[in-house]
Amino acid sequence: MPSSTPDAPLRLGISACLLGEPVRYDGGHKRDRLLSDQLGRWVEWVPVCPELEAGLGVPRPPMQLVGQGQSIRLLERESGRDHTRTLQRFSTRRVRELLALELAGYVFKRDSPSCGIRRVPVFGARARPRREGRGIFAAALCDALPDLPVEDEGRLQDPRLRENFIERSFAFARLRELFRGRWTVRQVAAFHEAHELQLIAHSPGVYRALQRQLAAFAKTPRGEFRARYRAEFMAALAKPASRARTTSALRRAARHFERQLPSRARRELAASIDAYSGGEIALRVPLARIRRHARQLSVKPLEGQTFLEARLDEHLGGKRV
Ligand code: SF4
Repeated sequence: MPSSTPDAPLRLGISACLLGEPVRYDGGHKRDRLLSDQLGRWVEWVPVCPELEAGLGVPRPPMQLVGQGQSIRLLERESGRDHTRTLQRFSTRRVRELLALELAGYVFKRDSPSCGIRRVPVFGARARPRREGRGIFAAALCDALPDLPVEDEGRLQDPRLRENFIERSFAFARLRELFRGRWTVRQVAAFHEAHELQLIAHSPGVYRALQRQLAAFAKTPRGEFRARYRAEFMAALAKPASRARTTSALRRAARHFERQLPSRARRELAASIDAYSGGEIALRVPLARIRRHARQLSVKPLEGQTFLEARLDEHLGGKRV
């Protein structure tokens, strides 16, 4: 698994019911085996059940978000009892604890009035709920850490979004290391160069914009520079890498050493990149070739390039899960 700190697993928060903990209102769970069993081998999960930890107990009456004028409340479905303040107070405290744990990402339970991150149903006067809410706890965490990679278990069933989430989580952990303590602009420049190919696969425009930011470092207050670099870097990675841009990053990597290859190996590498570009083979095939050549030829500019790190599907036995 790629990591800025290879000895430490990626630490991610998760809605506890997704790991199979019997914390739902009816005493059940929503175990997601992809998360608990497959990803669980690579990740240190930090499970949180906001409703249970806030003292609402198990079993408890089911709840929903209800729009009341400008405000959105968390109410018991049947009785209408209001738990908004309880959940908000709990969230403020728990988010503070989670900040200290330095999470690299968070997987939320979809549609939950406490944990959902997007399009949670909000009930009101109309017969049909509007899908425009955010769970109370999810909102508090996302407000405190706006650049933290977050996803819900529904979207993570898509291999492309899953790979992207894990990729962003590792990048977020590396960014945190970069800006820990007294960082220098040289360190940021080295970080930026190590992410050159990865950024190009996601958003070449942002790669160049961040380069301009680096050049203007002396004219920008440090705090502002850090906040902007972090936000724009994470926003760029949040755009899933397209096949065309990933192909361009592969070709850029190959240009560093292809002239040193015997003609047969050069042809095979080009064919492998073309086959990936045409959708015939997985990314891991040309990546493995590039890694091997880069290692054998000691290609300095490719040393430390995060784009060449092993992907999630390679760690899961070469299979898409
Ligand atoms: S969705 Fe959130 S609040 Fe509901 S049971 Fe799961 S962890 Fe608890």
